[in-house]
Amino acid sequence: MISVQKLTLPEDRLERLHYIKRIFSHAHGSDLAPQWAGGRRNGLNKLNSIDALAYARNRQFINGAVTHLSPYLRHGCISLNETFASVKARFDLHAEKLLTEFARRDYWRQVWYAKGDAIYSEIEPPKVCIAYAPLTEAVLQAKTGLPCMDAFIQTLLNTGYLHHHARLWLASYIVHHLKCDWRQAADWFEARLLDGDIASNHLSWQWVASTYSSKPYFTNKDSIARFTGEKYCATCKAKCPFDGSAQHLVQHLFDKTLIPIARQYSVPAIAVKASSGHPALAVFIHDEMLSPTHDLLQQPFPKIFVFDPQIHGHWSLNRLQFLADCINEMHGVEVWLGDTYEVLMQRGVGQVITQDTPNKKIKAILTPFSPTWQRVAHLVNIEVSEKRFKRFSRYWEKVGPTVLNGFKNSKSSLSKR
Ligand SMILES: Cc1cc2nc3c(=O)[nH]c(=O)nc-3n(C[C@H](O)[C@H](O)[C@H](O)COP(=O)(O)OP(=O)(O)OC[C@H]3O[C@@H](n4cnc5c(N)ncnc54)[C@H](O)[C@@H]3O)c2cc1C
Repeated sequence: MISVQKLTLPEDRLERLHYIKRIFSHAHGSDLAPQWAGGRRNGLNKLNSIDALAYARNRQFINGAVTHLSPYLRHGCISLNETFASVKARFDLHAEKLLTEFARRDYWRQVWYAKGDAIYSEIEPPKVCIAYAPLTEAVLQAKTGLPCMDAFIQTLLNTGYLHHHARLWLASYIVHHLKCDWRQAADWFEARLLDGDIASNHLSWQWVASTYSSKPYFTNKDSIARFTGEKYCATCKAKCPFDGSAQHLVQHLFDKTLIPIARQYSVPAIAVKASSGHPALAVFIHDEMLSPTHDLLQQPFPKIFVFDPQIHGHWSLNRLQFLADCINEMHGVEVWLGDTYEVLMQRGVGQVITQDTPNKKIKAILTPFSPTWQRVAHLVNIEVSEKRFKRFSRYWEKVGPTVLNGFKNSKSSLSKR
């Protein structure tokens, strides 16, 4: 077990990046690129530079006007609800496409709340036969021989960010072409992404694999060529596995003689330790609530953040640096490294107040400290029945009309322009 230590994050950003690299010398991956500096200020800058009209037009293109907001939303630097409200107020009806995409985040999160650790296993039987080969070294090292896939993997490893289309293409290549285990691949993605999020990530992999969707997702060469502007295809000499019609790809990829069955994965349990017995109260800051404006920071108790190997041990270096940027903006937060239980015991903490999360690991770790969970509002305060979580379209049927309500311009007034 790693020994408990209190950390002092340097104010100077470059020094801070070096400090994190030194403390987490085992962490894999590259340094955090300047355009991904963490924290609320940087999240707000990105939010303020959104162009929702361009987004609606070209978001599917790899160099389209996507927002790059996901790491900031994932870590709570900016909340989904304030982001949604800001975009709706600024762009009115023109923002509908982007607002629908924001809602996907809320949807996956609500599915995680509803299903808990079941999202780590196949929620439904796959609709085609999928297989479970280990993730290949070729994938892990970006040496598949396909210029497009290798470039996507390299981008993931170097920056921690991938455009949505690249995530889809890469996931479908890994699951349906290479026949690798989606769960192993999802864990790999989650560890490498700056926005790594169990709900959005693992459920998206299930969506691609067809264990949480009505059909498998796969792509073809035309689509990759079109949305990358021929960037890879123009000079590619490889035998393209994506070439062919949808019908050809279905025949080639899916063996209809095999019977698809759902597979269960075990989730390592966190042993719940004995109650602390100490008297003091503290605010526990976890990695989904990293905003200097978080209202729990107003509480008159110590505020404690822990880099805990049980939670962050598999995270890449750039993500740990992103976290350090975020925490650095939050004045008065103690930063520790080690086992959360040991840290809180050493600090004499008996009870914690913190933000609610669907993450059962965090819940188990904090159980000995009789946590008070502060609820986080969903996108809309209406009851969504579990039946609607089966597909995004069903959730959106219920939630969409309420959250999109109140546009300044009606559809008819816009169409007259
Ligand atoms: C295999 C796979 C793994 C993924 N893993 C993650 C993950 O770990 N964390 C994560 O935040 N997203 C994940 N996504 C969803 C999506 O790809 C990213 O949210 C998006 O690409 C982030 O870039 P952006 O902020 O520029 O997105 P934009 O296109 O600008 O979208 C704006 C915001 O809307 C939300 N959003 C858009 N599309 C989705 C979606 N399909 N699902 C959920 N939210 C969405 C995100 O919060 C995003 O920041 C994954 C998708 C796939 C196919």
